[in-house]
Amino acid sequence: VVTLRDVHKRFGDLEVLKGVSFEVAKGEVVAVIGRSGSGKSTALRCVNRLETIQSGSIEVCGHRVDSPDLNLRALRQDVGMVFQSYNLFPHLTVEQNITLAPRRVRKIRGAEARDLARGALERVGLADKIQAYPEQLSGGQQQRVAIARSLAMNPQVMLFDEVTSALDPHLTGEVLKVMESLARGGMTMIVVTHEMAFARRVASRIVFMHLGKVWETGPGEMLTAPRTEELRDFLSNEL
Ligand code: ATP
Ligand code: MG
Repeated sequence: VVTLRDVHKRFGDLEVLKGVSFEVAKGEVVAVIGRSGSGKSTALRCVNRLETIQSGSIEVCGHRVDSPDLNLRALRQDVGMVFQSYNLFPHLTVEQNITLAPRRVRKIRGAEARDLARGALERVGLADKIQAYPEQLSGGQQQRVAIARSLAMNPQVMLFDEVTSALDPHLTGEVLKVMESLARGGMTMIVVTHEMAFARRVASRIVFMHLGKVWETGPGEMLTAPRTEELRDFLSNEL
């Protein structure tokens, strides 16, 4: 579903991605790990064209992301993204936050919009909060609403960029649980995370990025038996 081939990305003189290649098959969960500055967020942002690339190719759900003819709207419908900051609109209810984009893009209204919001909220365990305002929710609950908001667009692929980094440990757990249940439900996911236990348990594959490259990739077991010095160093600092 997602293929990056020899992707190069620079910001001015700074080459941030130096030939990144990896693939994600349908239903796969790929965890992207690595030091701060290794290019994880940039790689993820290139996947849904929040950044343009200098060379290489990116294909996502049949969209040639690097092509000038890309249908950006169609790409964004197929790819949901959740960030560290959840960016809910404070003056809108949970339901309104979730249905804002579907109302605009799919022109749905009334009961249909409400059912869509309820369905998405059920998937994140928050159906009872449909009429709440963001400030009435914990950080973990707000992040789950942000996930529900993405799910309401019925994406083929979900991208997560350190979605639990701003949360207390006990709130982190509830968000990770939602992500795990999405994964078990067959959602295709790319997850940038520092949660090594989660990566090991949930990811079908791990991509370790270092200095703008995919340094090592493999199944969860690679975290217990790193092949490279760099991964070993990284893991010893994470624990
Ligand atoms: P972290 O774990 O801290 O989130 P990361 O692996 O996600 O790190 P990126 O955010 O991809 O790292 O950044 C990689 C490099 O690119 C960094 O050196 C960063 O300073 C640089 N960079 C990122 N975005 C921009 C930008 N818009 N303009 C210039 N440089 C940028
Ligand atoms: Mg980042």
